[in-house]
Amino acid sequence: MPAADTPRAARRPRAARTAPPLGSLTQAAHRENAACTHCGSERVTQLTMSLTDGTPVQFVSCHVCEERSWSSAAGPLSVDGILERSRKR
Ligand SMILES: [Zn+2]
Repeated sequence: MPAADTPRAARRPRAARTAPPLGSLTQAAHRENAACTHCGSERVTQLTMSLTDGTPVQFVSCHVCEERSWSSAAGPLSVDGILERSRKR
């Protein structure tokens, strides 16, 4: 019997390397940006301002959960604390 061996066409699967979209998930490991104190998201707006008594504070507003937090060099501040300091002169 003749060898009816038809050699299989060497199918080379194309190594279609789809490059991952840049800048979507990968971020620099070094994070300086503030993160939401509630959900941990970095999609926050960070503002630095001074209270009426001159205390420099950082205001972080989260775009994800709408958490708003204040903090100073001394640590996190409550909104009440902010208002209180704003009243005092
Ligand atoms: Zn959040």
